[in-house]
Order: sequence, then C-alpha cells, then structure tokens
Amino acid sequence: MIVVDRAIKVYESRGEKITALREVSLRVPKRSVYTIMGPSGSGKTTLLNLIGGIDKPTAGTIIVDNINVSSLTGEDLRKYRLHKIGYVFQSYNLVPTLTALENVLLPMTLAGRPDRERALDLLRQVGLEGLEKRFPEELSGGQQQRLAIAVALANDPPVIIADEPTGELDLATGERIVRLLLDQRDRHGKTVLITTHDPRVARMTDKVILLEDGRILGEYEPSKIHDIAGGTATGEVSAERVIVEYIKKRLAELGEEMRRLADAFARGEVDPDTFEEKYRELKTLQKAFQAELSRLGAGPEAL
Ligand code: ADP
Ligand code: MG
Repeated sequence: MIVVDRAIKVYESRGEKITALREVSLRVPKRSVYTIMGPSGSGKTTLLNLIGGIDKPTAGTIIVDNINVSSLTGEDLRKYRLHKIGYVFQSYNLVPTLTALENVLLPMTLAGRPDRERALDLLRQVGLEGLEKRFPEELSGGQQQRLAIAVALANDPPVIIADEPTGELDLATGERIVRLLLDQRDRHGKTVLITTHDPRVARMTDKVILLEDGRILGEYEPSKIHDIAGGTATGEVSAERVIVEYIKKRLAELGEEMRRLADAFARGEVDPDTFEEKYRELKTLQKAFQAELSRLGAGPEAL
C-alpha cells in the first residue's frame, strides 16, 4: 500500500522556484495497478521519485508498506530502494556492458543474494527466454522495456513503479507490458503504479489518476468510462469529461510538436529523412488519440 499525504515538491533552480507538486494526496491499495496520466510537466515523474525514495518532498509524507519514506536516510534509504521498490525508469536504466541475465542479477548481487535460477525465471516471465546473453543494445525497444521490468522484479519488491513503461506508438507492446504488470498484481499481490500518456493502456488498469500542474484533477475507474454523450451518473460524466479534456490537451501538444518539427525542417535543422520519420510517428499518434476521442463519443468534431 502506498499512501501519499499532502505532498508538496518545490524545486529551486538558478534562484527560481518551481512547484512540481501542490498538496498531492493519493492511496494505492495493495494488489492493484494504478495509472497516473497527465500532460508533460504535470509532475508525474516527480511523484514517482518521491515514492521511489529518489527525491524528498518539500512537505507532506510518503508511506510505503508502513515505512515513512520521506524520513529515510543513508543505509535505510538504500535498503528501501533495493528491497521495497522496483523502479522501471523512463530511460530503462540498463547497464550497457552487462548481458540481460547479468542486468537482472545485478540488484540481487547488491542485496547479497544473487540467484541465477530466479533471474532466468524472471527473464522467462517477461518473454525473454533465449535472449539471456544479449546486451541491451542487441534488444529491441520493447524487449529492453521488458528487461527493465525483470530487473525491477529481481529482489521481489512489494511495490513496482514504472515511468512511462509503454510507448504510445505501439499498442501491442504497451498492452503486453501492462498485462505483465497486471499478472504481477494477480499472482504475487504486487502494488503497481505507472505513468502513461496512452489512454488505451490506462484503460486496462484498476484506476486512473489525472494530474495537471502538480494537482490531482480526479480519479476514475476505467471500467466505468463508456460514452461521454450517454453518461448519466454525475460522477461518471465528470470523469469522462476529464479524460476527454486530457486527450484534447495531449492532441494540442502533439500539434505543437508537429509545428515545431516543420519549422525546424524549414530552417534546415532537420534532414528530410528524420523529418519524415518523426512526422509520420506524430501523425500516427494523433490518429490514435483522435480515435480514442471518437470512442468516448466526443468525436473529432469536438476539437
Ligand atoms: P512529468 O513527468 O509529468 O513530465 P516532472 O515531474 O518531470 O513532470 O516535472 C514537473 C515540473 O517540475 C516541471 O515543471 C519540471 O520542469 C520541473 N522539474 C522536474 N525536475 C526538476 C528539477 N530537478 N529541477 C527543477 N525543476 C524540475
Ligand atoms: Mg516524466
């Protein structure tokens, strides 16, 4: 169980104060998979870092598995990170000079319990059987993501936090990653907290929390989201409105990215191949989000 109580995070950089979290309170029960969605810069990574013991809140408390994380220091903090939390970083944090198997063995070794059989079993669980001897760069993006999850599970932590573990581009890979995490909930009673931009991925989880500008906008149960036009119960309608607003914001962000890319291309800062590839990716995403809006009954005309 994760309990975040009125967490505030203020960063100071070059004399300027940036408030990343404004009194965020949140409970993630044991044996559940929660998703945090929100535009870029809304505070998702900051929140995960506080829970993961990587950063400290400016105010408020974080309790994980009855441990007051915000008060831990030194060896206690190191042990907390090693045993209680499996952190899947946005950048995967794999060691490039170690094989897949060695990457999984690393946290076990740091904990003084290297277990080759368990490492091999974890690699099997994430579908990387036969690739144990590959180095990270010899694996596809999706395989690296799954390896990062196997590494996070190495010391059997009760809590898994994953920062954008699913790319938006490839729904099949995203679904596979989420299934893997749902399976950890069902078979091992894990508590899982992930961030994503992808509403299709969020929909597979137990609860979605929307973050904006360091505040929680709302929580909703994905199973209750049907059709914004047909919603009746007030709570459901507002949850749908919130998700529709979110998708519209994300679409605006994508539009902005496409404009910036086109400008850079026009100025000759981006070569034609890169431009075309990037533009096509963004276009694919835009279509996926527009389809999601239509699915929610908001339709592209609602833009
Ligand atoms: P998200 O993961 O939702 O994109 P972040 O948690 O990374 O958002 O960032 C939230 C806000 O805090 C942003 O305005 C970001 O610029 C700022 N921020 C994040 N990390 C730092 C840092 N180390 N120093 C200063 N500002 C930061
Ligand atoms: Mg982030």
